Amino acid sequence: MPPRPEAPRYREPAMALAALAQAVEDFFEEGYAFQVNQREIDETPAHLRSAALTAMLPARTQAEGFYAWVRYLVWLDGIRELAPSLVLTAAEAEGLAVLRRQRNKFQREHPPCHHCGMPNAEGEYSCHACLKEIKH
Ligand SMILES: [Zn+2]
Repeated sequence: MPPRPEAPRYREPAMALAALAQAVEDFFEEGYAFQVNQREIDETPAHLRSAALTAMLPARTQAEGFYAWVRYLVWLDGIRELAPSLVLTAAEAEGLAVLRRQRNKFQREHPPCHHCGMPNAEGEYSCHACLKEIKH
């Protein structure tokens, strides 16, 4: 188990949860942008890749600590099935609830392609991965 990072805090707990929800959304949008631009990223020369990634990925909107916490929550979510007796802190349980809610929202807004299963932005006419028509 990696060391538990400290859950980011705000003076108002509701604000911390709102910031966490936004950081989770940013995290999913980054993953999606990476997937959409995968071919271009692979074809970019290694010395230009970092600058290309910065240009392609959406800007982060929260403090870095929130993204470290999101990465930890994603890891925790992944191992919970294997370790059902794992005792969660209140911050972890709250964080996992935010992660689940935001994941459901992302999946609603990025329905999978009927041909290849890759997520696409809602309303797209063709799949970014297999280029086939998306039926609405
Ligand atoms: Zn597809």
